[in-house]
Amino acid sequence: MAKRTKSPKYIFVVGGVMSGVGKGVASSSIGAIMKARGFTVTALKIDPYINVDAGTMNPTEHGEVFVLDDGDECDQDMGNYERFLDIDLSSVNYMTTGRVYQEVIRKERNLQYGGRNVEVVPDIPKEVIRRIKKATQEADADIAVIEVGGTIGEYQNIIFLEAARMMKMNAPDDVMFVMVSYLPIPSKVGEMKTKPTQYASRTLNGVGIQADVIIARSEAPLDAKRKEKIATFCNIDKSNVVSAPDVDSIYDVPVNFEKGNLGRIVSDKLGLNHVESKTDLRAWQNFANKPKKAKKEVNIGVVGKYFDSGDFILADVYISVLEAIKISSYHLNLKPKIDYLNSEDFEGPAGKRRLKKLSKYDGVLIPGGFGTRGIEGKINAVNYVRENKIPYFGLCYGMQIAVIEYARNVLGIENATTAEMDPEAENMVIDIMPEQKELLKKQNYGNTMRLGAYPAILSKETIAQRSYKSDEISERHRHRYEVNPEYIERLTSKGLIFSGKSPDGRLMEIAELSEKEHPFFLGVQFHPEFRARPLSPHPLFTAFIKASLKRRG
Ligand code: GLN
Repeated sequence: MAKRTKSPKYIFVVGGVMSGVGKGVASSSIGAIMKARGFTVTALKIDPYINVDAGTMNPTEHGEVFVLDDGDECDQDMGNYERFLDIDLSSVNYMTTGRVYQEVIRKERNLQYGGRNVEVVPDIPKEVIRRIKKATQEADADIAVIEVGGTIGEYQNIIFLEAARMMKMNAPDDVMFVMVSYLPIPSKVGEMKTKPTQYASRTLNGVGIQADVIIARSEAPLDAKRKEKIATFCNIDKSNVVSAPDVDSIYDVPVNFEKGNLGRIVSDKLGLNHVESKTDLRAWQNFANKPKKAKKEVNIGVVGKYFDSGDFILADVYISVLEAIKISSYHLNLKPKIDYLNSEDFEGPAGKRRLKKLSKYDGVLIPGGFGTRGIEGKINAVNYVRENKIPYFGLCYGMQIAVIEYARNVLGIENATTAEMDPEAENMVIDIMPEQKELLKKQNYGNTMRLGAYPAILSKETIAQRSYKSDEISERHRHRYEVNPEYIERLTSKGLIFSGKSPDGRLMEIAELSEKEHPFFLGVQFHPEFRARPLSPHPLFTAFIKASLKRRG
């Protein structure tokens, strides 16, 4: 597409008062609105922590690890950007303090600073700016939305705010700031309070930045009086204060922001109104309305772990899986009802009796996972849904578990397992590949994961091929183990179909049962959830939901 701006424009999104009020969704929504005005938009996330990526973090600590095409393991906000903007991002779109320092130190060691004193300021902000510009250039974007993680006033993200300030100073017409702030309504007071936002605004001023727009997140809409107050005390025009009350679905947010004229406000600030004066959110709105119109429910059970770590974490760990289920269901005009089932509840004799609970579901899904906890419960769950012909969709570990279950109960290899459970086991139907073993011997652990997008070839006349309507696909991976080639012949001779394979035929990417045997039994070695987008639902999730609907009748 032809460039629509003379120079790229940068929208920094910062958070006031506290975290967890939807800064990621706000950033994604601003991007979606500007895209709907015809601009090419990219998005970046800055995470203030030292970790170089999210790959080594515990999911209960961090939520989901989102994987990009190039294999970067990053924050789940990147998933929101991809879903809202319907674009593929890469590692240049993601940075952490660790990543930025690592690069500066690498350059210093390579004498790239010409022997001068390398300093936190300005060298760190300069590296941040270089990355922002590189990502914008690589996407050939008119506009980059940059979300600065953390909250204004904390020590951790100050260096990133300094980078933003420097960019504004050098190109005042091309850079703007949006503060997403929280307005509490204390129950005893019963009134929405603007004071914390006023303080956040002053703290932002203290680092040389003035917000151009304030997005007022609260339980309730902002009234005229408080809008006025924020405008007066935060030095901003009251038309640039946008009310953002809680909504039922995150997909309503762009539409809501647009009701507050955000597209026009941003365009005014960045001098883009002569280019485009309309936001065309029709396609988006059409999607966002679907859950409101859907009457029929579909009941999906997600058998996983981590769920016992408290409700707060629950939805975050599998966020892309949940969104993928929702997106496909909405497109089929269905309301998904998703239950979280702890796989450990299906272990032992009492657990086996509980398996009956699964028959109330229209479909059962096992998402990705690591480690040994709860795995026997998952195997029992797969056994139950396979024998009782309940639609089953296994993602990554969920596919490996389906293969183990098949080996145990159909092939009669009772001690079939994965090397992840027991590296010394006799029958590892899931194992690491020989070339990985070499790396492990050299203690080169980092390189033993298969990460990012890989192609797969699909076999004709299979659920996979019919769903994708294609013979070749590309999907994102994040796993260490594979189906052990030594067992493939035995598994296929007993009816398991490997309908997707790596182009060299060595790696099994999709396993399924014939529809004559089972209405829908399919596992994938990759993570299709990372490719499900509101405006282009994932074909396998759609096929699974369709099969679940059929069971419901
Ligand atoms: N633990 C399995 C592996 O490493 C599956 C990983 C996953 O589900 N993402 O192969």
